[in-house]
Amino acid sequence: MPHMSPPHILVVGAGAAGYFAAISAAETLAGSGTVTLCEATAHPLAKVRISGGGRCNVTHACFDPRELKKNYPRGARELHGAFHRFGPTDTIAWFERHGVTLKVEADGRMFPVSDDSETIVSALSKAAQSLNITLRLQSGIRKVEPAPPEGVTIGTGTINGFRIELATGEVLHADRLIVATGGLKGSGPSLAEMLGHSIEAPVPSLFTFNIDDPRLEGLAGISVEDAVARVDGSKLEQRGPLLITHWGMSGPAVLKLSAWGARELAASKYRFSLAVNFSPGHTRDDARSALIAHRSRHPRRQIGGSTPFQLPVRLWAQLVVAAGANEATSWTQVSNDVIARLADQVVDAKFPVTGKSTHKEEFVTCGGVRLGEVDFRTMESRKCAGLHFAGEVLDIDGITGGFNFQAAWTTGWLAGRSAVLSALGKADAPR
Ligand SMILES: Cc1cc2nc3c(=O)[nH]c(=O)nc-3n(C[C@H](O)[C@H](O)[C@H](O)COP(=O)(O)OP(=O)(O)OC[C@H]3O[C@@H](n4cnc5c(N)ncnc54)[C@H](O)[C@@H]3O)c2cc1C
Repeated sequence: MPHMSPPHILVVGAGAAGYFAAISAAETLAGSGTVTLCEATAHPLAKVRISGGGRCNVTHACFDPRELKKNYPRGARELHGAFHRFGPTDTIAWFERHGVTLKVEADGRMFPVSDDSETIVSALSKAAQSLNITLRLQSGIRKVEPAPPEGVTIGTGTINGFRIELATGEVLHADRLIVATGGLKGSGPSLAEMLGHSIEAPVPSLFTFNIDDPRLEGLAGISVEDAVARVDGSKLEQRGPLLITHWGMSGPAVLKLSAWGARELAASKYRFSLAVNFSPGHTRDDARSALIAHRSRHPRRQIGGSTPFQLPVRLWAQLVVAAGANEATSWTQVSNDVIARLADQVVDAKFPVTGKSTHKEEFVTCGGVRLGEVDFRTMESRKCAGLHFAGEVLDIDGITGGFNFQAAWTTGWLAGRSAVLSALGKADAPR
């Protein structure tokens, strides 16, 4: 039997996922119930505000769920179906309907045309206000439990709603609960654990590598357009632009490697050997042949200023020194031994990584609520009927490029809509 009185949906966490879940719930309710959005801090949508360097990379222009899911080191399989129901096309359309036009950059990242994250914050805030969502700030939830029996039977089991205790001691009740509390910090039991869920231990994802190596000295800001970065001795490998920073290395190749290797690198305590191929088109033998041909073609040029590879010349000069050669030596004097060492420096340069740093303060959490315990058609818990999840609280994370927000919009939309439909005893119409 469905709920007889108008349902009350409570969403915990006013980030991207929580806002979208609350809005989707209120849109589905269409006035026949209430939605409360509880936020622990005084600052809703704080991450949206600072995201994308203040521009908010809302989503990615990737419209095939099969391709889109490849950008999620964790959650790809589960998100596939969810993206069919609410993907980047829906995100773009939703924001357009709410007065925000998104634009695509050359690499596929999508931002508001205003280039200002405030536009996104404002669209979400206005939508929530117009749907009469009650936003409660400084209302951290410290405890949740299923309300005592006398429940009504709906869908997955008996649901009599939830008893929700705020940090202030105040107690609220809700018929459906959506937990969108973001990446777990690992301190104290999470709301999900209180309701019977198990958690994949949280570790950081999306970070840069700290490397103190003479080859990188004075090169901060220099980037290599195309490189392969590999964790030496493992299968972890990523290709893309590589940026040299004051502390070591960053850029898409490194960030992707940090995401795909989040667990393995945490286990290594961020101390490992990074092998870089600065010229991915070349194997060690190819590189040797290219160097030998270059020696024949340019015998009188100085080795430090003349390379057959597409490399910034200052980086090349430091690789020359690392190979034990003098930059001022003319190519004709370069021995085959030096050529072999140079080839190694170009295609398999090993750098000792000694730690990690954040990339423009951007990071996400690898780990969270175990995905097998959640039904991704509805985002409902398989452990506790009436409980739904959305966003980074789940063991889902993407690489940089707007993928993390897309996961928040997708799971938020599904959670909000499904929570209401189940409370009203209605079946979800497939989209
Ligand atoms: C600096 C930075 C820049 C980023 N830029 C981008 C970008 O451009 N594009 C992109 O796709 N991704 C970006 N990301 C990642 C993206 O911000 C996150 O993946 C996304 O915000 C996750 O949304 P969420 O709603 O799940 O969690 P959050 O945004 O973390 O929101 C969770 C909310 O829940 C609240 N909360 C937690 N516990 C409780 C509780 N017990 N009671 C009540 N409230 C609670 C928190 O205070 C918070 O407001 C960025 C991340 C950072 C840190």
